[in-house]
Amino acid sequence: MRQQIVAGNWKMNTTLEEGIELTKAMLGKIESPRGLVVVAPPLTHLHGIGKLLQPHPQFHLAAQNCHQEPKGAFTGEVSASMLVSVGASFVIIGHSERRQYFMEDNITLSAKVNAALSQGLKPIFCCGEPLDNREAENQVEYVCEQIKAGLFHLPEEAFKQVVIAYEPIWAIGTGRTASSQQAQDMHQALREYISKKYGGSIADDTSILYGGSCNAQNAAEIFAQPDVDGGLIGGASLKSDDFAAIISALK
Ligand code: PEP
Repeated sequence: MRQQIVAGNWKMNTTLEEGIELTKAMLGKIESPRGLVVVAPPLTHLHGIGKLLQPHPQFHLAAQNCHQEPKGAFTGEVSASMLVSVGASFVIIGHSERRQYFMEDNITLSAKVNAALSQGLKPIFCCGEPLDNREAENQVEYVCEQIKAGLFHLPEEAFKQVVIAYEPIWAIGTGRTASSQQAQDMHQALREYISKKYGGSIADDTSILYGGSCNAQNAAEIFAQPDVDGGLIGGASLKSDDFAAIISALK
């Protein structure tokens, strides 16, 4: 059975002290989550926040990115094994901000997926269409192509470790969320696409999260959709009350 997951992507927000406060407040408000909770703080906070999460088996630490090479002369970069060494078990790969601002293309992203998996890190692989593609009504083709390019080189056992996050770019940080029907339609289309490549059982077991202006008010309706298995949350993960409310909306 696929896992229900809420993942919080803090992006480049919080000092270490603020991050620790946020984590403590979050842990105090969320007692028995119905699924997994994944927290992706900035790189500098991973070790400290990982220690706070460690006694809570349903809480997991994620990095927001990793480099595709195992080590070497890549100033400023961090490898998958380094992330594992500070307690991360997930890594976000292919967030639209990485694609847009850091020019991460499909070849780089598929190499990052391989690097993560080689160290036992589960990729949260992001995909999602720009507004132009939504308006041209070719969003499904666009997103399926991202999935194919980033993931379909993987053998079955490796693919099973991947979580997918569908995040329409026009909904990220804009306050304009996809409707629950738009989310369901895309998630269903992605599951069918995965099924054609890996078979129905693997497709059925793949967690597909929704991301894009998901908040305490709209989470329950979106998560209630049969093919939506939780969310990747940006802005609302920085407020412990909102994040706790989103987690309690898991089915
Ligand atoms: C994100 O960046 O992954 C995201 C979903 O952001 P927000 O929730 O702020 O739209």
